[in-house]
Amino acid sequence: MDLLELSADFLRPEEAARAGELPGKVDLPVILTVRREKEGGRFTGNERDRMQLLLRLGLSGFAFLDLEEDLQAPELDRRIREAGAGVIRSLHDIHGVPSDLSRRLAVLARNAREIPKVAVTPCSAADLMRLLETFTALGSIPKVLFGMGDYGFPTRVLAPRLGSLFCYSSPPTGNEAQGHVDPRTLDELYGYHRIGKDTDVFGVIGNPVMHSFSPLIHNTGLLAQGLDAVYLPFLVDELASFFHVADSLGVQGLSVTIPYKESVIPMLGYKDRAVAAIGACNTMRRGADGRWEGTNTDAAGFLASLVQAFHGVVPPGQGATVIGAGGASRAVVYTLLDQGVRVLVLNRTALRAQKLAQELGGRGASVQSAPLDESSVKLMAGFTDLIVQTTKLGMSPNENADPLPGYQFTGAEVVCDIVYAPDTTSFLKRALAAGCTVVRGSQMLLAQAYEQFAFFTGSPFPPGAKERLRERMSSA
Ligand code: NAP
Repeated sequence: MDLLELSADFLRPEEAARAGELPGKVDLPVILTVRREKEGGRFTGNERDRMQLLLRLGLSGFAFLDLEEDLQAPELDRRIREAGAGVIRSLHDIHGVPSDLSRRLAVLARNAREIPKVAVTPCSAADLMRLLETFTALGSIPKVLFGMGDYGFPTRVLAPRLGSLFCYSSPPTGNEAQGHVDPRTLDELYGYHRIGKDTDVFGVIGNPVMHSFSPLIHNTGLLAQGLDAVYLPFLVDELASFFHVADSLGVQGLSVTIPYKESVIPMLGYKDRAVAAIGACNTMRRGADGRWEGTNTDAAGFLASLVQAFHGVVPPGQGATVIGAGGASRAVVYTLLDQGVRVLVLNRTALRAQKLAQELGGRGASVQSAPLDESSVKLMAGFTDLIVQTTKLGMSPNENADPLPGYQFTGAEVVCDIVYAPDTTSFLKRALAAGCTVVRGSQMLLAQAYEQFAFFTGSPFPPGAKERLRERMSSA
């Protein structure tokens, strides 16, 4: 159901004086709130003034008044009923999820004439799980429940699936709270009005994750394929609690990003050859027995992104420097070794690079490792046909960071930076200025996501959607 909410506490006095005209001017039911500061509102007057404002405006055709759980005002309640308006009885916490949430919600839910509402702020995956438990405990009664902040974001988009009557959304102001979503994004990106009880849920887990382009890519594909499914970002601080959330929501598939590609492996019931060989997993889906199956599409995505720069195939025997030794680097090194390329891995934590080289080397594959510091440049001689940057240095918002400021490009190198936001990192800008051929992270991102889509849905990414996506990504 679509509704409009008027937060009268945001109005200037001259606007508040005319606020009662609103319900008669719009085609939607209107909710009235006059929210105090402790609930995130702007009303600074005393309770008597607030009550007067509610009484004056509340009888002007508003469909609902949203009143706080501690507001005891029998006179107001009676007059609202006489005016034919409904009451949403709300419980707010802008700092966390109260420990007595279930008890307080049960009190709200006892009044069958009112709609209980919970707006709290999960600060962890465990908090989100507690909020989801309250959804379940309330059963099928009409209710409004959602989590604020980035951890609560999935509950906003999934409101229709979770049985919440509506979720909150407002136009962008440039000063949004975390987890806020504007109506256009909610509808066009997440297909909010198409979400129902049976909608399949997919997503990306990471930390940070809210900047991820994966929702744009996958939701574009899911919509074009005509699937009843949605793909969400899940901010995760701790994997075990998140997987309770995933079970509770019946999540069908997950992309895995920084920093969980290695730590997610113990959660898998089955891992394919790529995960076993690379030691990192970037894609999971729920198998027929309910356990998670893992694969790694970074390797195939990275290889696909190189094809154009190398006119089809990376010549064996070439020398490559890979900067970074994290989850994504493992897929890059694995791919290059598979192509017969000699690899030097440089990493801030030298031991991690050494471990990577040991685990992926051998069987005739040539891989060396060294620390990433001022001395690295000297070691790179013979490893500069291709340079691949896989650390998060240069990623938004730290766009000026350069992982290897001492290296001077000659123009002969093919330079790939797998960071995709910004599209051209400062490292790639230096390479372009020297005349190098560059490969952007967005090319790998798209290629690996198309592989994920097929793994999730069993269908190739719709070709028509690829074109639309390139347009949307360039304007994102
Ligand atoms: P990860 O496993 O957490 O690894 C992070 C890497 O960055 C490690 O090598 C780490 O070095 C290094 N690093 C972090 N902060 C650093 C600093 N201040 N100075 C030097 N090195 C630093 O992350 P990941 O999953 O591999 O992802 C890494 C980046 O690749 C992210 O930006 C991600 O968005 C991007 N990515 C892009 C694609 C794509 O499709 N284009 C795919 C995957 C990943 P230490 O070992 O010393 O900590």
